[in-house]
Amino acid sequence: DIYQPLDSRYTAMSYHPVGRSGLKLPRFSLGLWHNFGQNANPADARALLLRAFDLGITHFDLANNYGPPPGAAERLFGEILHADLAAHRDELIISTKAGYPMWPGPYGTDGSRKHLLASLDQSLERMQLDYVDIFYSHRFDPDTPLEETMDALATAVQQGKALYVGLSSYSARKTREAAALLRQMGVRCLIHQPSYSMLNRWIEPELLPTLQDEGIGCIVFSPLAQGLLTGKYQQGIPSDSRKAKGAASFRDNYITSETLERIQKLSAIAERRGQSLAQMSLAWVLRHPQVCSALIGASRISQLEENIAALSNTQFSAEELAEIDLWAKD
Ligand code: NDP
Repeated sequence: DIYQPLDSRYTAMSYHPVGRSGLKLPRFSLGLWHNFGQNANPADARALLLRAFDLGITHFDLANNYGPPPGAAERLFGEILHADLAAHRDELIISTKAGYPMWPGPYGTDGSRKHLLASLDQSLERMQLDYVDIFYSHRFDPDTPLEETMDALATAVQQGKALYVGLSSYSARKTREAAALLRQMGVRCLIHQPSYSMLNRWIEPELLPTLQDEGIGCIVFSPLAQGLLTGKYQQGIPSDSRKAKGAASFRDNYITSETLERIQKLSAIAERRGQSLAQMSLAWVLRHPQVCSALIGASRISQLEENIAALSNTQFSAEELAEIDLWAKD
């Protein structure tokens, strides 16, 4: 069947500037970490991607190693892109990353110029693309001078293989250093991709103020704490969940009776707001002006639709925020 995108695709979604840049991202972007690997049915993956596009999601987030096996997500995404969305390349923001183990040997991982540039070439080949919109250093590498890693990002831009660059999971201090190095090289750091959820607040004290100062945008990953903040694990591990499929996930000892009780309390707040817990959790991460987008790791269309509907209620009263902190903050 030939895909015809919906004419209405830009009416429901809202778009937020990425830091002090001219680029805007949809409030929700689709992440392809676990939902596009060899366990995914290609027809379902295609339907998910195209439904996301029809709902106004213009940003798809990948990395060299998404799968499993590593590379599989980029390959499948590239096939769908070429078959169905080739005419819409200029409506899309596609990101990839390098820095985690990808191929054997010392150049298959970490922060060297050798790894980053070879990995980007491989990603472009798998996705059948000439360039990505955003290329990330996936993590800080203490064994590589930061200048070398930033120089590799700058080279990707100069070579026309990336339009923008970003950092993932860098500390506030390293983010500041990295942004200064990139500036010296004539390239701006567009965006930072950290983990963030009601149960994981590490970015609040230092990173968010740093991003504000530097004019860097923030797109958060695991806003549902990998599914815990949907309530789906309250009665054990559902057989069709990511956790049951043995995918890289939160550790078993993360589901304690204390966490389950906290989630129960949070669900009650969501219910009073007329939202599901997933919807409240997603709306909550968007409340900072620096957070332009939240990455959704939906495995099926029903989750995608439920999650995007969070946009109909993103306001929180001071009392609600305090109550959320009471149950969700360490
Ligand atoms: P989430 O915290 O949103 O968790 C996603 C999981 O939650 C899915 O596996 C799905 O479970 C479940 N889920 C989502 N919506 C619903 C719903 N409405 N009802 C029930 N269950 C739901 O995000 P991820 O951890 O997946 O991260 C999102 C994206 O962020 C990734 O795809 C990737 O692009 C990026 N990321 C980046 C990292 C980095 O280092 N930069 C690290 C991790 C992620 P199920 O599969 O069981 O159906």
